[in-house]
Amino acid sequence: MFLEPHFKAQRAGWIEVICGSMFSGKTEELIRRLKRAKIANQKVEIFKPKIDVRYDDVKIVSHDSNYIESTPIDHSSQLLELTKEVNVVGVDEAQFFDNDLAEVCQELALRGCRVIAAGLDMDFRGKPFGPIPDLLAVAEYITKVHAICQHCGNLATHSYRLIQEGDTVLLGEKESYEPRCRTCYKMGNILDFKPLQNDTNSTSTDKDLFS
Ligand SMILES: [Zn+2]
Repeated sequence: MFLEPHFKAQRAGWIEVICGSMFSGKTEELIRRLKRAKIANQKVEIFKPKIDVRYDDVKIVSHDSNYIESTPIDHSSQLLELTKEVNVVGVDEAQFFDNDLAEVCQELALRGCRVIAAGLDMDFRGKPFGPIPDLLAVAEYITKVHAICQHCGNLATHSYRLIQEGDTVLLGEKESYEPRCRTCYKMGNILDFKPLQNDTNSTSTDKDLFS
């Protein structure tokens, strides 16, 4: 479990990234850290991209309905204007932000903010997602969380899309994606095919009875 660093008299802040596949508990971990910062009387603000309107306009909601109030913004540069006097800046669904996000987070850290960003490290194609690679490169602390593969029970690193649509930005729900390990992800829709029901036995038995 991540233990918050505590550097007395440190002038600069730092960047933490929580990344992983869908259903890996990224948002839960973000909420846990932010709640602890609030308990420690830190001034906390949370932001998410306007594109993420799955459940609620202003709340960050994780899949287990744990939530915390947040501000939807259009562009990462707004973080610089909206976080004066703030100690801890939370960013959820960071993968949907623009490519300036890493630069903005570094600016916030230099100002003395603790920045905690959570996001998908890979899209459903298994490719690095949006500004996350840049953010990982400049972060002081990285936590990679894992879901459980729905097919084999191993640790899941990939988000497999069950609906075949072209767009990278398909906001995820349980019916659209499933977490898979590397091997099961590679097997693709082979895993969707169920073994054929073998009811020829009963038919042949019937035939036998009448022969
Ligand atoms: Zn698997």
